[in-house]
Amino acid sequence: MQQGQSLGSLMAGKRGLIMGVANDRSIAWGIADRLHRQGAELAFTYQGDAFERRVRPLAQSLGSDLVLPCDVSRESDIDSVIATLGEAWGTLDFVVHAVAYSDKDELKGQYLDTTRDNFAKTLVVSCYSFTALARRASALMTGGGSLITLSYLGAKRVTPNYNVMGIAKAALETSVRYLAADLGGAGVRVNAISAGPMRTLAGSAIADARFVYRWNGTHAPLGRNVTLEEVGSAGLYLLSDLSAGVTGETLYVDGGYNTVGIPSPRRLGPEQN
Ligand code: NAD
Repeated sequence: MQQGQSLGSLMAGKRGLIMGVANDRSIAWGIADRLHRQGAELAFTYQGDAFERRVRPLAQSLGSDLVLPCDVSRESDIDSVIATLGEAWGTLDFVVHAVAYSDKDELKGQYLDTTRDNFAKTLVVSCYSFTALARRASALMTGGGSLITLSYLGAKRVTPNYNVMGIAKAALETSVRYLAADLGGAGVRVNAISAGPMRTLAGSAIADARFVYRWNGTHAPLGRNVTLEEVGSAGLYLLSDLSAGVTGETLYVDGGYNTVGIPSPRRLGPEQN
């Protein structure tokens, strides 16, 4: 049996919501798969009919029939998801928020050219939605709980074309700390995973994504990019009792790339030496 295939019971008896599956390469899917293998019961949301066709069979493959529409830019959608979970389950143990959006035309070129409309939309969908969700979901976490969201190094440092999404992720990471403070007294933990570049739909919307992927893989201390399974396992850690003492954190799962100041010349081609 491969390491990733093992079934366990870390999440037995726990129920949670997975937001952000678009297909089987989505980070949300990698986390859901890990949680399922450890006995979690899952509900999923999808954004619009086109995604429903992909998400429903994936959810069913993990034994989930709770598959609900949710466009996070609509507060009423978030309300009805939480109301449905309240009716179906009564309580909730965890939430995965793996949702982000910005106009593709502004994920290239200069940050300087960001429009007011896209700035607002990007921040609402990619950052505020986590706060809106945390407020409602935590009300169902009567026995404590854990929420995670997804960030990227572009929150902290300038990376090519990440632009307004970097500002949204910086706000998201700061939200994690404020939400952790607000909800800690209720035993609800809030953390982020800062994942290295992954080949997903959202990842490919950023110009020069292939260059960034190659660069990260070459210069990360591990000498490679991370896998969906590895990000999934980090999600499992943060959502399970293994991380019971951890909140307000941003955990890098990027092969160590964020720790590198200047890449080793040994990793550069001869033309750069
Ligand atoms: P993905 O395209 O598989 O997932 C993005 C999801 O966001 C999709 O399911 C999409 O439906 C959803 N979404 C967008 N707007 C929405 C809205 N208004 N309402 C509801 N859902 C909406 O890509 P992914 O890479 O798995 O992205 C998941 C998260 O991981 C994002 O927050 C992304 O920024 C983050 N992240 C991605 C990478 C990467 O390289 N791919 C790296 C670090 C962090």
